[in-house]
Amino acid sequence: MAKKKGKPLLLFKEEILPGESRELNFSFVKLHTNTPIDVPIIIERSLHEGPTVLFTAGIHGDEVNGVEIVRQLVSKGINKPKIGTTICIPIINIFGFLQKLRDFPDGRDLNRSFPGSKKGALAAQVAYKLMNEIVPLADYCLDFHTGGSSRFNAPHIRIEKGDDALTELATIFNAPFILHSKNLKKSFRNACRKRGTPMLLFEGGKSNSIDSVVSNTGVNGSKRILNHLGMLQSKFKVSVPSKPSVIIANSKWIRAHASGMFKANVKVGALVNRGEILGHITDPYGKVHYWIKANNKGYVFNVNEAPIVYQGDALFHMSTQVG
Ligand SMILES: [Zn+2]
Repeated sequence: MAKKKGKPLLLFKEEILPGESRELNFSFVKLHTNTPIDVPIIIERSLHEGPTVLFTAGIHGDEVNGVEIVRQLVSKGINKPKIGTTICIPIINIFGFLQKLRDFPDGRDLNRSFPGSKKGALAAQVAYKLMNEIVPLADYCLDFHTGGSSRFNAPHIRIEKGDDALTELATIFNAPFILHSKNLKKSFRNACRKRGTPMLLFEGGKSNSIDSVVSNTGVNGSKRILNHLGMLQSKFKVSVPSKPSVIIANSKWIRAHASGMFKANVKVGALVNRGEILGHITDPYGKVHYWIKANNKGYVFNVNEAPIVYQGDALFHMSTQVG
């Protein structure tokens, strides 16, 4: 069957023709030093009609591993589609990225500012522009995050339970885990759901860190999604998944029952038995030893890598059942 030629795409009043590669600037505000900053949007269009996939990262400015995944998609040319269009925004919260911080300069969390407003706080304005000018062009969104602070996430996709279309996509992405989690109010994911744009939220690694296993998982999953949509160039190979993603339907954080120096004994992603030692907390003088044990058999899909913790700090995120 002959492929249909694509139509022009209109973004920021610019017409981008089928077959074109373009870089536009998402930025509409300067730094407080009156210094202009660029927030590049990289658009790659095939000559042939097809779906549009939006890849975003850096909604939280310190979640560098997500930025690295989208960077690799661009750098390796994976974003040049066989059919359709890809739109890549490696860093949305450029202010946070400059300072290696999660939030915007006024302390607002962009991922709690959706769908945004035209005249609200800066984060709300960014959310508004994203939702009104870019997301409407997309048939699918993939948004890349990491664990916050020192909490290292095993690579996983977050979707709402019972969403068959997202379950299918998440299964194709084939991260080690699929976590059922409710959409947070005012999040990008919730705003996409409300407008009917399927979105996969990827979590992997921790903030201000790059881990090659996490990056590879994100890149390979993206390739599998593009391949599924018929968009991946044939020069790229898609690895056959060795096993399906483990679905985590219910999970619980295990918290520190004492303050002190903390060391985890398990690797992120491990399957542990009930009663198994997960880590221990000591005082700096060698007198106190608290062992942290698993309450049930389950997968440890987030491990806190902080060397010092306070009582009540979240240490391990575990599934409460297996399978
Ligand atoms: Zn995040």
